Amino acid sequence: MSFVSREVGAKLARIHEAMERAAVRAGRSGKEITLIAVSKTHSAAQVRELYEAGVCHFGENRVQEWESKYEFMKDINATWHMIGHVQGNKVARAVRLFHTIDTIDSAVLAERLDRAKREYNMEGPDAAERRGELDDKMRGGRLPVLIEVKLDPNLSKSGVSGEELPSLVEAVLPLRHLELRGLMGVPPYFDDPEKARPYFRRLRDLGDAMRAQMGRELLPVLSMGMSHDFEIAIEEGATEIRIGTALFGERRKT
Ligand SMILES: *Cc1c(COP(=O)(O)O)cnc(C)c1O
Repeated sequence: MSFVSREVGAKLARIHEAMERAAVRAGRSGKEITLIAVSKTHSAAQVRELYEAGVCHFGENRVQEWESKYEFMKDINATWHMIGHVQGNKVARAVRLFHTIDTIDSAVLAERLDRAKREYNMEGPDAAERRGELDDKMRGGRLPVLIEVKLDPNLSKSGVSGEELPSLVEAVLPLRHLELRGLMGVPPYFDDPEKARPYFRRLRDLGDAMRAQMGRELLPVLSMGMSHDFEIAIEEGATEIRIGTALFGERRKT
């Protein structure tokens, strides 16, 4: 059954228009930019509605929360992004539940993901069924990953510093079951989104510097920009934006 409310349709249309305008200001096309709907704290029904409206990338920040929703969405043919920190004990679940992990911030995590992906790919096709697991759509190939760069010095939790980035890139590139696709970052929150611009520019510059050093094809993805600042992020080169509130409304406080 397909049902898209007028409200959701209108919100989505507004975001697409704003994406296009920002892209044109930067001499780009809105079609180059991927909209990731961040569905954390929102219901499976709301994800389904956006999918019916044409959104095909979703982001979640907790393995467990996503696992409980995913059960109701196995038929949806979208790309699921992990955009929160992956705890060591969740790595095996994460490679079964997400198409891409956008938050690698240490060589240890990268190596764990690489190993878990290898083990998952080697399992027989009936293993998931035998264990009563959800399904095995994620099996095979390499797991795309992004490195999270710490843009906000006040948030200590996740991301590598610009100084640590080259050595982490060098640690991730040889891992055969991961495919390093680019960089992700979250700037500090400013009421005036214009103030976030230097942080977005810094992430782009870090990507450019890595490419200059290691090769043209490296790190094509820049995941940056959220509900209140995505237009600035697009002007500064974002190829993926992560939008929660502007699509789903306010989140419950957790
Ligand atoms: C929650 C979250 C978002 C979405 O934030 P909004 O301001 O609601 O658009 C984007 N990126 C990350 C990493 C998040 O945790």
